[in-house]
Amino acid sequence: MPDPALERVLYTRNEIASRLRELAAEIRQDYAGLPPPILIGVLKGSVFFLTDLARELAMPLRLDFLSISSFSAAPDRGRVRIEKDLELDLRGEHALLVEDIVDTGFTLRYLLETLTARQPASLRVCTLLDKSSRRLIPVPVHYRGFEIPDRFVVGYGLDYRQLYRNLPELGILRRDES
Ligand code: 5GP
Repeated sequence: MPDPALERVLYTRNEIASRLRELAAEIRQDYAGLPPPILIGVLKGSVFFLTDLARELAMPLRLDFLSISSFSAAPDRGRVRIEKDLELDLRGEHALLVEDIVDTGFTLRYLLETLTARQPASLRVCTLLDKSSRRLIPVPVHYRGFEIPDRFVVGYGLDYRQLYRNLPELGILRRDES
């Protein structure tokens, strides 16, 4: 039974797992022959995705995390701040940024600018969800789990007021819950 807070389930636990297997196969192929990459998780939304993806990848890799705060309302829209930084040095490393969702692109642009300045050998982006219809800033997305409509989604790491992250499925939150 899906959680009653959900208006509709977008992707079940099994559908997510199956898409992750496809994504992992693609990533494993692209990184074959390279030194172990660093998977960078953006806390907290990408945690479930990152850990499942990392296990599915089944190849040597390192994990690191950063935490940010972003401001979605005017006048600070697009302003992002790093609250917890990476522990690993990215210089000369192959880095794969793992995001929960790319919406307007403001957050990702900031992260890419910040991480590029650290001179990794390569920097790619993997996002579980993409709301590309809402994009305001063009940003590169190399690996995408699902393209989704312009609705507010929760579950599998994504929250509403810190709740619902632990739902096993991804769904649209009922309007009377938000
Ligand atoms: P952007 O900077 O691309 O507009 O926003 C990305 C951030 O907005 C995500 O990391 C996430 O925190 C939040 N976000 C955007 N859309 C959704 C959504 O549908 N559900 C949830 N839970 N967060 C969202």
